[in-house]
Amino acid sequence: MKCSYCQERAGWFARICQDCQRLLAVYKAHKGQIGLLQFLDLFIETGLPREKIEAFLAADPRGEGSVKDRILADMSTELLGAMGVNARQRAQDVKRLREKGSWRGMGEPPKE
Ligand SMILES: [Zn+2]
Repeated sequence: MKCSYCQERAGWFARICQDCQRLLAVYKAHKGQIGLLQFLDLFIETGLPREKIEAFLAADPRGEGSVKDRILADMSTELLGAMGVNARQRAQDVKRLREKGSWRGMGEPPKE
């Protein structure tokens, strides 16, 4: 069978070749914790050829966005979270403060 990531021969019954399995293990181990550049460093550290790493990053075997897309999405979620932009949590905070009748602690007064 062909590898669903790099499209190279993966072997009988294997949907992912051994190289991509290594890259995938690195991705899963650090998912949501590090950025794309740090991922690239780790991928390069595996010693695999650059073309393999690029094919892996561009692969979208499940139609959920490529590996690279997913890394970038995790990065922006994390970045927004670091800036305090967590939509769900923020909505809950607003509701809680509104119910208490106090806007203090929100960092800014309500616009009237
Ligand atoms: Zn592969």
